[in-house]
Amino acid sequence: MPYVWWHSGYDFLCHAFRVEQVGGGRGFFEAACEHSVPVERVEREQRGHLCVSCLIRVGDALPDDGGGWRG
Ligand SMILES: [Zn+2]
Repeated sequence: MPYVWWHSGYDFLCHAFRVEQVGGGRGFFEAACEHSVPVERVEREQRGHLCVSCLIRVGDALPDDGGGWRG
């Protein structure tokens, strides 16, 4: 299941959202960790600290940032 990592204006963390939610005319997105963010509060870019709960849940769908914590 592919994910996108987007910044939440609610808690200022970068969460993993399932791509199937994207562009579906929803009022909010729900992250892998069940953090819900209204669409207007989501910044569609990967920045800020990654949400640890999302990291644990999605595991193998980490953002491709050229290394990072995986070393
Ligand atoms: Zn999260």
